[in-house]
Amino acid sequence: MDRITTVAGVRAAVSAARARGQRIALVPTMGALHAGHVALVRAAAGGDGAAGDAPGAGEFVVVSIFVNPTQFGPDEDFGSYPRDLDADERALTALGTATPAAVYAPTVREVYPRWDPEHGADLATSVSVSGLTERLCGASRPGHFDGVCTVVTKLLNQVDPDVAYFGRKDFQQLQVLRRMVADLDVDVELVAVPTVREPDGVATSSRNAYLDEPDRVAARSLSRALSAAVRRARASREAGRPVEAEVLRDAATATLEGEPRARIDYVEVVDPETLGPPDHTPAAERDAAAARGGEERELLVAVAAHVGSARLIDNVVVGDAADEQRLLDATG
Ligand code: AMP
Repeated sequence: MDRITTVAGVRAAVSAARARGQRIALVPTMGALHAGHVALVRAAAGGDGAAGDAPGAGEFVVVSIFVNPTQFGPDEDFGSYPRDLDADERALTALGTATPAAVYAPTVREVYPRWDPEHGADLATSVSVSGLTERLCGASRPGHFDGVCTVVTKLLNQVDPDVAYFGRKDFQQLQVLRRMVADLDVDVELVAVPTVREPDGVATSSRNAYLDEPDRVAARSLSRALSAAVRRARASREAGRPVEAEVLRDAATATLEGEPRARIDYVEVVDPETLGPPDHTPAAERDAAAARGGEERELLVAVAAHVGSARLIDNVVVGDAADEQRLLDATG
């Protein structure tokens, strides 16, 4: 596995791989790698995340590690975000056959040549997706998605991958990037990887490192809130009633409110495509279901809460049987 730190270097490595006939896969991360990132890397390597998967013969996998300053707000954790490139490289090397071909770890100045901590990136150009970014995390983190879209555009331009892997844990980010790629005709396939969870159901996150023991226990309230919503949806189905957004929201909110150490940022139930309000009157849902041949519509249940100094997020798509089951299996 090579460590590459410059745009010129990654372009040269990618052109050589492409000349050999390899397909280029990119896994963008901010480092502090954990099992969630590993699932993305394994998927990129051509496996389904199971141990022993061999990499796809034609894949040249690049894992980028870059803590992007422009997606952090002024009061957020850019300064304290965990950074340990050597440990990240050891974790990737330990993946054996799924070890990527290269780690691309540019400095802030390599990505933003005019960067200075006081004035920021000083870009005259940025990428902004409207609509999808207005709610959920976009509402409480102004400018965050502009930073994400701009840096992902830069990474896609620098690495020029055929395919890029993103986690469903950041569901809004995934939908925003899908829209950006579609709107701007970016020639890349985006692949979504299911959320990886700790044994107690907590979504694996670099920010879990900020949690002391009581806060780590309190962090379970997010995935429990989601499983309460899924159980409520299942009860509605069993009773032959439509699954109503408001009922799911109440179930998730009640569970999160039961955890005094969690300060709720939002509990939202939205359309997973538009991230806007679902048309949630029972009659409208029945009509919509009938129009889809009796199939239930999907609803994204998304939660965000501050626990200790960490801001944590999680989500499930109700009506997506596989996503529901993965969550229930993980939360017990
Ligand atoms: P980050 O380093 O937090 O910016 O995350 C890099 C990528 O890993 C993003 O596409 C995330 O959605 C994904 N990711 C982070 N945590 C998880 C997780 N627990 N399960 C699956 N993907 C994840």
